[in-house]
Amino acid sequence: MRGVFKMTKVRLLRKKEKEKDKLFFEISGVDISYVNTLRRLFMNEVPVLAIEDVEFRKNDSGLYDEIVAHRLGLIPFKTDLKSYNLPSECKCKGKGCGHCQLKMTLKAKGPCTVYASNIKTKDPKVKPIYPKMPVVKLLQGQELVLEATAVLGLGKVHTKWSPCLAYYRELADIHINKQPDNKEGIVENCPKHIFKVKNDKLEVIKDRINECTLCNACVDLSNGRIRVEPRNAYVMTIESWGQLEPKEIVKQAIDTYNKQLDEFADLLAKVK
Ligand SMILES: [Zn+2]
Repeated sequence: MRGVFKMTKVRLLRKKEKEKDKLFFEISGVDISYVNTLRRLFMNEVPVLAIEDVEFRKNDSGLYDEIVAHRLGLIPFKTDLKSYNLPSECKCKGKGCGHCQLKMTLKAKGPCTVYASNIKTKDPKVKPIYPKMPVVKLLQGQELVLEATAVLGLGKVHTKWSPCLAYYRELADIHINKQPDNKEGIVENCPKHIFKVKNDKLEVIKDRINECTLCNACVDLSNGRIRVEPRNAYVMTIESWGQLEPKEIVKQAIDTYNKQLDEFADLLAKVK
């Protein structure tokens, strides 16, 4: 990343097959505020597509127009960032055109449950991530007809435009200064099962040390013979809602950050 400072290490951590919407990486050599900046960029500064305007032609359902519109807004859609611009950055200057808007239609007649998959668009790449997300139930004879407009937006404006949940935790170093008396008690009371007793000696299980949450249960039980210290390394988890791949979220966030820093440098250059 330009302009900030060099981090010593970023390491991609193994992930399970069923966690394909998640990304885990270890980051070290940076300050916690920097890691938090990344978290905020991932969640708030990466654009995704969501329904913003809804025009109702007919709504006989039990829900008010506003509620149906709100529910439609929260449906995540597969987002292709190459095809759409943020309205504020579009050539049309936010008036609305094919490069910054996507029209959608929905027609349904009861009795039925209206699902996200009932929404039709002209762009085959834009599909609801969860087709079985219910919007509203219609009874016999009730109808719902509407036209909606989806636009790119940012999570800092509304959470419907957030691409993911991102969070991190700090890793710890555990030092056993002197063998404590209550070895079995420490093994049993560590909620993350990080210790074992081998040849009557308390040891840290190396593969499990990154699970430590710094709860200090071992410190309390060892009368100060165990020391747990933050390691200045963090594990970041990104859980994508599906609009973008987790790696795409990271790349886009870094691009945005670089752009913001460049803008800042340009503004600074103009100061006399
Ligand atoms: Zn436009």
